[in-house]
Amino acid sequence: MRKMLIVGAGQSGLQLALGLQSKGYEVTLMSNRTADEIRSGRVMSTQCMFHTALQHERDLQLNFWESQAPRIEGLGVSVAAPDSSRAVDWVGRFDGHAQSVDQRVKMAGWMETFVQRGGQLVIHGAAVSDLDYFSRTYDLVMVSAGKGELVSMFGRDASRSPYDAPQRALAVAYVHGLGPRPEHPDFDAVRCNLVPGVGELFVMPTLTTSGRADILFWEGVPGGPLDAFQGVKDPSEHLARTLELMERFTPWEYARATKVELTDANATLAGRYAPTVRRPVGRLPGGGLVLGVGDVVVANDPITGQGSNTASKCAHSYLDSIVEHGEREFDEKWMQATFDRHWEDTRHAVKWTNAMLAPPPEHVLNLIGAAGQLPPVADRFANAFNDPADLDHFFFEPEKTNAYLAEVSGAQA
Ligand SMILES: Cc1cc2nc3c(=O)[nH]c(=O)nc-3n(C[C@H](O)[C@H](O)[C@H](O)COP(=O)(O)OP(=O)(O)OC[C@H]3O[C@@H](n4cnc5c(N)ncnc54)[C@H](O)[C@@H]3O)c2cc1C
Repeated sequence: MRKMLIVGAGQSGLQLALGLQSKGYEVTLMSNRTADEIRSGRVMSTQCMFHTALQHERDLQLNFWESQAPRIEGLGVSVAAPDSSRAVDWVGRFDGHAQSVDQRVKMAGWMETFVQRGGQLVIHGAAVSDLDYFSRTYDLVMVSAGKGELVSMFGRDASRSPYDAPQRALAVAYVHGLGPRPEHPDFDAVRCNLVPGVGELFVMPTLTTSGRADILFWEGVPGGPLDAFQGVKDPSEHLARTLELMERFTPWEYARATKVELTDANATLAGRYAPTVRRPVGRLPGGGLVLGVGDVVVANDPITGQGSNTASKCAHSYLDSIVEHGEREFDEKWMQATFDRHWEDTRHAVKWTNAMLAPPPEHVLNLIGAAGQLPPVADRFANAFNDPADLDHFFFEPEKTNAYLAEVSGAQA
């Protein structure tokens, strides 16, 4: 039986550990926190996952919370006008629903399942020196430790990382008591509110430790008015600031948020990081090799909600590569090829996410505006969150955008 070590129990590490376990591999998982510490700890993400990634979880029978988590049926875009009214406001419908399950719930639950199914869980914050030892005793060591210190083993790929500094200041609050969007009270949607030059507010439902909740998530251009959460330690002050900024920049969202309260004492998160693609193979001081997984190798800014989706797709693709490799050695050539196979898909998410961090060109503004009059455009844009490869056909190049809009307008006429 092949022996695998996975370091880091997040979306990618746990999905891969449980997947390998189901295929009969002997898996050891190393986590720097216990399930209870994760469950009672701070929120980590907004973790909205779209159809393909959710299907990967279903295929492994890991969709434990699917019936409890709110079904997110669409994605809406609003653009603030200079007078804080809405220049644009529409909602597109997904072909398959999305869901957000608080990672505190999911990772704690998956970790317990891994142990119940006979997996070996080691609670330990791994250091590079530990990995040196383990690389000699396991057939394959994979590092899925997110954006933690272990990423330093994996060189930054400058050709795939256009930004060397954070492009947004992030501020998340999980709340109870948010009202529905009056435009579509009958279904839930992720609402993306764009405030040109200032940042974005995302609002979405989730399943958290206390049941259904909603997330208020500001992404602020660094140094601008939304970059207002650094040093805020008190959760109630964090929420008050979130709401003040909503009242000022997105009053239509504030209108449904006047009665909200935080879900728990750890319901807020603030931070920032530079989106980074790394080289997939880490070389240890003793000469051993380790393979990077998930955010370790591809860390996107959350502006397009791709990180957990990419982490899930990475775990899915790596699982196939490992199983197909059979009993052969997991050498550097295989590691690179395994990552390349994942990159072939995930490069679309990276290209799009990095594009969304820059000021939008005119043809993108036209596209987003036109979606308000052309429901098929709104639907296609919404579904691109699940399959960013489709954006190559209508988003990046003005000629393709114009041709697509002309085609849809013609069909509607
Ligand atoms: C504010 C915010 C909002 C987001 N919103 C979305 C969204 O809506 N949709 C989406 O798809 N993505 C979103 N993301 C991104 C998503 O959360 C991540 O991309 C995803 O969690 C990455 O999964 P991972 O398994 O690679 O890493 P992680 O989920 O970060 O897991 C890494 C794990 O490794 C552990 N670890 C770290 N160091 C060590 C060590 N030395 N030893 C042992 N264990 C260690 C950590 O504690 C953690 O449990 C968001 C991120 C943020 C910050």
